[in-house]
Amino acid sequence: MTRNNQSQTELQLLRDQLQSLMDAARLNEKKWRRLDQFEKQLIATRTLPELIQLILEDYKAACETDIVTLALCDPEYEIRRILARSQPGGDEIPGLVLLERLPTPDAEPAPYLGPFDAEMERAIFDPWPDGCRSMMLLPLMRQGELVGSLNMASSAAERFSADRGTDFVERLANIFSICLENALNHERLNLIGLTDSLTGIFNRRYLETRCQEEAANVLRHRTPLCTMFLDIDKFKRINDTHGHIMGDEVLRQVASLIKSELRSNDVLARYGGEEFVVLLPQTELHHTCEIAERIRGTIAAHPFRIDARIELQVTISIGVAQVPAEAEGSDGDVAHKLLAAADEALYLAKESGRNKVVGEHNRPASVAAKRGLIRMLGFGAA
Ligand code: GH3
Ligand code: MG
Ligand code: MG
Repeated sequence: MTRNNQSQTELQLLRDQLQSLMDAARLNEKKWRRLDQFEKQLIATRTLPELIQLILEDYKAACETDIVTLALCDPEYEIRRILARSQPGGDEIPGLVLLERLPTPDAEPAPYLGPFDAEMERAIFDPWPDGCRSMMLLPLMRQGELVGSLNMASSAAERFSADRGTDFVERLANIFSICLENALNHERLNLIGLTDSLTGIFNRRYLETRCQEEAANVLRHRTPLCTMFLDIDKFKRINDTHGHIMGDEVLRQVASLIKSELRSNDVLARYGGEEFVVLLPQTELHHTCEIAERIRGTIAAHPFRIDARIELQVTISIGVAQVPAEAEGSDGDVAHKLLAAADEALYLAKESGRNKVVGEHNRPASVAAKRGLIRMLGFGAA
């Protein structure tokens, strides 16, 4: 080979190298733009369900991989509760895996890219993918702690290989972890405004909004909706005899006993003082009365302990009402009438001796007549 030929070959080699570097740079720029776009979307997303959907659906489409799953540590079921509250069944999102605990890592968690390891990763790919040959697991870290992992799998063996750079995806995992924490904090703040600090259940503000939403559903789909108004009997006497602190403890225990008799899509709220309201979507009156009767019985049979020596008996009266099948009017009207009807039934339960459940079908005639008479005579406060 002449000297001239040799330099020609070297030159061509350099040109090829330069071309492949430029190709790689263009590809990286394209990737960077796509990722930048996606990051902006992540940052603009406020709620947890939207954030999870963005990573599981939009990111999967953007990165053109077969499978994306998100494993999150949820030891106190907080994420489950937030998602379930957002809509019925909201905690069952395909690709989202909520784990009570994560394995303790031996070393600083780092991304894994390599062959698909069926045995090792069975827990974080749910449902189980078929035909995957390579995978990438990105640890999600917050304040030095592992909070979950973002996982991708592909049917192509070379898609995720150990020699690939992970800068882009590590950056994405960091941003996603921050967004996740923000969304959780946002949900927590919302919840503080909607829950009662003494009992931990919803407050009246939430109840009224939710009742209106449920009334709208009834008007649209003509599904049944019932409510219970519950009021502790002679509660003032408990305060007067044993003090407010004990009164508070009784309120907490009563709330938790009521909750223990409800299903997950029933809504329990503290309406005020010693009054509670339960909304029961998709439930008929006779079934609501059975549940109310169970609540009444559970509370009456529960030993409320003050200390080792004193044990209290507490009873509760319950009024039950259902939105009439032919209900018309605005959502607000229907919701208001429903609560007023349950409140009226509660009044009848008190009048007929307390520790009772009164529904529209079992109103004591004498008390109802008396109430009607009082109203007729113009004593509106009755
Ligand atoms: P009834 O059987 O007719 O319902 O009688 P009651 O004594 O339960 O009803 P009343 O409305 O006369 O008294 C309610 C009491 O509840 C008065 C109020 O001091 C007490 N209360 C309201 N909120 C709280 C609270 O947060 N903690 C405590 N300890 N007591 C409360
Ligand atoms: Mg009361
Ligand atoms: Mg009371």
